[in-house]
Amino acid sequence: MPPYIIRVSSLKGGVGKTTIATNLAVMLQMRGHRTLLVDCDTTNPSVGFFLGMETSNIGIISWLKSQAQLDEVVAVHSASGLRVINGQIDMDPYLPDPRMITRMLNELGKSNYEFIIIDTRPGYDGITSWRSISEALIVTLPEVPSYSGTIRSAKDFDKTGIKHKLVVNRIKNSKYEIQIDEINETYENKIVGAFPEDPIIPRSVSEKIPAVLLDQNSKFSVQMLRLSNIYAPNNFFYPRIYESFMDIIRRIINSFRKPKA
Ligand code: ADP
Ligand code: MG
Repeated sequence: MPPYIIRVSSLKGGVGKTTIATNLAVMLQMRGHRTLLVDCDTTNPSVGFFLGMETSNIGIISWLKSQAQLDEVVAVHSASGLRVINGQIDMDPYLPDPRMITRMLNELGKSNYEFIIIDTRPGYDGITSWRSISEALIVTLPEVPSYSGTIRSAKDFDKTGIKHKLVVNRIKNSKYEIQIDEINETYENKIVGAFPEDPIIPRSVSEKIPAVLLDQNSKFSVQMLRLSNIYAPNNFFYPRIYESFMDIIRRIINSFRKPKA
């Protein structure tokens, strides 16, 4: 089976692409699927910050420029076993030629990963060169400036024949937000995830531990488990995300104990 390749996209920056891409990849790996996360945001790579991995001088750019082989640029995230192609920190933003992207996807398509999650920079990024991916996962905020870009990029993916799905991120349930029902009506496709604004995310960035590893019971992690079920339905029960039976008993007993003075 060729890998299932998901490009995480948005026209606007700062909506949570890297947050979603990183945690989805870690979650799929934890569920036992051989997963590769690629930091293809060559203008401002940030996967390494979310995973606590050192950015080395060999990574995505060396591979795109054919200065290194695929196996030379793949690193291991030790806490999860996830394979990662990190970005390279370079003060000059690097914009790969669309032919490089086609070649990258061609080589990834022949690899033996089950899932490949590609984090990208905001914008179009030569959309036709991405034709061979399995799907785009668009990330949007529930507000007009971000969602208008989502509608535009959805149309472009449609024109190019790329399947796409949508996740809504940083939902605060404020009355000023675009409501999920409204998004459902206008997006005409599948909303596969609704992620809350969750303090676990800034904490996870500060501690350099992905949210799904840091607190498996956080609202964000529970939603990520749901999203991962769409891609890995055979492993529906993922026991590590829930408290074990003994943990629940312990928590109930502790709640009756008087706090120590
Ligand atoms: P992008 O990759 O689209 O530029 P990031 O994933 O880097 O966006 O997220 C931008 C900022 O928003 C980060 O500082 C991150 O900590 C924060 N963030 C993203 N998603 C959430 C969330 N669900 N709850 C709280 N903060 C979030
Ligand atoms: Mg990013």
